[in-house]
Amino acid sequence: MVEKSSVKPASSRAAKGGPGKKVLVIGAGIVGVSTAIWLQRDGHDVTIVDKAGPGEATSHGNGGILASCAIVPVTGPGLLHKAPLMLFDPGQPLYLKWRYLPRLAPWLVKYLSHANAKDTKRIAASMYNIIGDSLADHQALATGTAGERYLRATDYLYLYDRRRAFEQDAFGWEIRRRHGFTWRELEGDALAEAFPGLTAPDALAISMPDHGLITDPGAYVKALARHFKEQGGAILRGTADKIAVADGRLKGVRIDGKVQPFDVAVVATGAWSQPLMAELGLKVPLETERGYHLELWNPSWTPAAPFMLASGKFVVSPMEGRIRCAGIVEFGGLEAPPSEAPFRLLESKFRKAFPGVRWERTERWMGHRPATTDSLPVIGEVETAKGVYAGFGHQHVGLTGGPKTGYLLAQLISGKKPNMDLAPYSPSRFR
Ligand SMILES: Cc1cc2nc3c(=O)[nH]c(=O)nc-3n(C[C@H](O)[C@H](O)[C@H](O)COP(=O)(O)OP(=O)(O)OC[C@H]3O[C@@H](n4cnc5c(N)ncnc54)[C@H](O)[C@@H]3O)c2cc1C
Repeated sequence: MVEKSSVKPASSRAAKGGPGKKVLVIGAGIVGVSTAIWLQRDGHDVTIVDKAGPGEATSHGNGGILASCAIVPVTGPGLLHKAPLMLFDPGQPLYLKWRYLPRLAPWLVKYLSHANAKDTKRIAASMYNIIGDSLADHQALATGTAGERYLRATDYLYLYDRRRAFEQDAFGWEIRRRHGFTWRELEGDALAEAFPGLTAPDALAISMPDHGLITDPGAYVKALARHFKEQGGAILRGTADKIAVADGRLKGVRIDGKVQPFDVAVVATGAWSQPLMAELGLKVPLETERGYHLELWNPSWTPAAPFMLASGKFVVSPMEGRIRCAGIVEFGGLEAPPSEAPFRLLESKFRKAFPGVRWERTERWMGHRPATTDSLPVIGEVETAKGVYAGFGHQHVGLTGGPKTGYLLAQLISGKKPNMDLAPYSPSRFR
């Protein structure tokens, strides 16, 4: 079992009135807001700037799962063979806007180079240190704030339509087992009780304890941002388009055309982080893995716990007033409008598995997962620009790993030594 290194409980937090740097956090998704709160608790004078407002981008529409077990990257062994077949099968949850392929190609080549057993195990070990204790990390962040009401401890299930499909995922499950995850198999009556009306007679569910659910991720991030403001933090609406650096050190950040001075800036702009990093001489290979959700409002059945519908590789989460089906990977860049096919796939797979479920109305959403080629987030100070820190690139698990990332960044900025090795996440790995 690997040592976990989770955030400290409230009682051991540094008191206000600490080192007191003037910090700007750029981006108010889960990563930026978590970072701002932990910095504020360390006694810094913190401002957040976001072009759209807190929790309006990817952190709004995700599956809501605190998926500690999701340490195994998409680039598992065998992806090289599977991906081309998936792209040509409209029933598979992988899409590509072909016009985008020339722009995607350099990123894709590097990304696929990690689709081997050795890299998968290495990436999983590094992800474990960021997301392995996510429920406790969220509790430490949100307890006592207005965000607490959206945080729920829960089991997390993987629903396979047959045992053979579970066995085909054995490599990933063995990695999880080695990192201390345990599970129970549900079949027959136990399965029927968890999923009444499920059509697949040979289905198998894998149920893992000690996970978490955010019952409305957008509202959660907004509530955390309100807490930050109530504690004296400032939130600006604006676009940060230049980080001013002189003699290798941060001087200020240009927001809507005006440079404002800061001691420290944190880039937590998710899938939009590449241009700000490029200005600092770092060419981070970052892509958007576009993802989709379909919300089924006032459904006739609500699952007791969130689950991954393995045949569609999307999650089904019970949220306030609705079920949210969220997943799909589509490559197509930040600008293209949503496609129709992913919504159709989410609905048809859900209807096939649960034909008896009715709902009143459907809502659709598409968002941008920030994905690096090595599937690891970028966390740490930028070597070429002292005072500038990166906190982005959490791909499919940014909600899960946001609070831990924020805690680590606050430690670094406060001059404390994190009790784990941050080298795997270093921005310098892309120099
Ligand atoms: C369909 C789907 C399902 C998912 N399910 C899960 C799940 O169940 N569990 C999980 O852990 N993760 C999940 N994820 C992933 C997760 O949502 C992301 O990893 C996470 O939200 C990223 O958070 P972030 O704070 O880095 O980015 P974002 O939430 O995208 O925030 C970035 C912010 O930066 C702002 N910004 C960008 N550029 C600028 C600029 N120049 N100036 C000012 N502001 C700027 C944006 O407006 C935005 O608010 C899912 C993602 C998708 C798409």
